[in-house]
Amino acid sequence: MTDYRSEYPFGVRHDGPEPASAGAEPGSSPPRATGTLESGLPLDAFDARLFREQSETVVAKLEKHLSDVSIRGLDLTDPAALADAARALMTTERTRIAPFDERKLAGIVDLYIRTGIQVHSPGYMGRQFSGVVPLSGVIDFVSSVVNQPSSFYEAAQLPSVAERIMAEELNAFIGWERDGFAMVTTSGGSLANLTALLAARNQAFPGFWSEGGSGLAGQPRPAVAVGDDVHYSVARAAGVMGIGDAQIVRLPLNERHQICVERARGVLDAAARRGLKVFCLVASSGTTAMGAFDPLDELGDLARERGLWLHVDGAHGASLLVSDELRHKLRGIEKADSLTWDAHKMLFTPAPCTLLFYRNKENSLGAFRQRASYVFDEEPDIYTALDSGEKNFECTKRPMIMPLWTLWAVYGRALFARKIEYLCRLTADAHRILVRESDFETLHCPEANILCFRFRPAGLGDEDVHDVQVEIRNRIKSEGNFLISKVDVDEVAALRVVMMNHQVTSEHFRMLLGEIRRVGRDLLRQNRPSR
Ligand SMILES: *Cc1c(COP(=O)(O)O)cnc(C)c1O
Repeated sequence: MTDYRSEYPFGVRHDGPEPASAGAEPGSSPPRATGTLESGLPLDAFDARLFREQSETVVAKLEKHLSDVSIRGLDLTDPAALADAARALMTTERTRIAPFDERKLAGIVDLYIRTGIQVHSPGYMGRQFSGVVPLSGVIDFVSSVVNQPSSFYEAAQLPSVAERIMAEELNAFIGWERDGFAMVTTSGGSLANLTALLAARNQAFPGFWSEGGSGLAGQPRPAVAVGDDVHYSVARAAGVMGIGDAQIVRLPLNERHQICVERARGVLDAAARRGLKVFCLVASSGTTAMGAFDPLDELGDLARERGLWLHVDGAHGASLLVSDELRHKLRGIEKADSLTWDAHKMLFTPAPCTLLFYRNKENSLGAFRQRASYVFDEEPDIYTALDSGEKNFECTKRPMIMPLWTLWAVYGRALFARKIEYLCRLTADAHRILVRESDFETLHCPEANILCFRFRPAGLGDEDVHDVQVEIRNRIKSEGNFLISKVDVDEVAALRVVMMNHQVTSEHFRMLLGEIRRVGRDLLRQNRPSR
């Protein structure tokens, strides 16, 4: 019989009776410890058996949540009421450590689930957050318990190796030389964009890291060229780097909302005449607003011709690379210098999980040129060669690759490819449905899983189109059956759906249109008498 008390390094005082299962079968879980440690800490907060019971409580709730296929949107709670509900779950014990109360845990999980966006419901069409593959959550849970922050091999061996493996697996679709490229994970696509821009800036302005901007006196000022629909994180990254709004060169878009390469040349020339030195051209593979894919092949040629770093923001759409059917949207990706790829969007893992790729691995060391000898060994050995600390901004970093790698290891690439293909097909079907509805206006032929449109029945004046879309979106949200978003297209509001959940079908989309129509007509009826 094992004496479980001996497993605790500190002396244990027993308050309660001996647990009944103290002599349990080998292989069954150890009995729950009761009592307190000599330090005064209650054993139960650290008890392995209780941990299992807590987990089982939570898992049962998540199982119920995942199997609920009811159509629901967002139940937006008044923050004050939610704060009251949250406070009611807190212990009132002020001096002693409160004993574990299972009802509180259950209450916290219920409240967490109920008040969130319902990414697993067919009513969820509104945002880029994934309906995650449940297994990825299971591994994320493991990460939280074993706690292996992953900037250094020593602390996170399997995550470090898994990063290498995933980098190679995904690079097979990008097509860079196996020994030449590099990948680093970052906490989100916004940080990946900043990191890539820093690497590009430091390459074009080698003295910048040591001298700062003042070292550039008299030289052309650093600038970044972006498509007009670029994600706001790029402008924000530029701002962080001391590149002002006036140094962001906005390239015009064509009718498909892609960067227009022909007109881009003239705009770059004009920027040079204004004393700007564009060092990076940012293309989007899947713009956030409409899911448009910039022409990478032509932009790659343009970048080479002008000596620019080509950064591809594929936060949303890089995942299409894993599909044989859809990879062509990123034709020319091999010409990029760097690529941002969010797995927490179209690879359906928990957020955040972003992969930042560099075509040339030397460049991955260029973003943060500094030496901190207490962490960075000068001569890498087989272990430190896997450290990512020099390449990422974070010091402590979540081992975010683990959910992605586990899904990839267990189910293989096809799981991702099939789900992405389904979502894109669903979006194309939704577009076909819209085209036939005379009271709706389509705004583009969707290239991926993002679709923008407007409710525009006969009799709705042009001057009211914007406000009506905004109001429809708000009412749909507050009715709580569907979650959709709103975006401005050519400065007029549009409704936007993002298909991230494979439980959504065309039938659900038709139901959404029915609801939009009902809400929209109500709105027009209400407004009419006041005119
Ligand atoms: C979502 C998105 C981002 C930002 O990524 P986060 O992971 O949310 O920080 C950047 N660019 C594009 C195109 C995106 O869709």
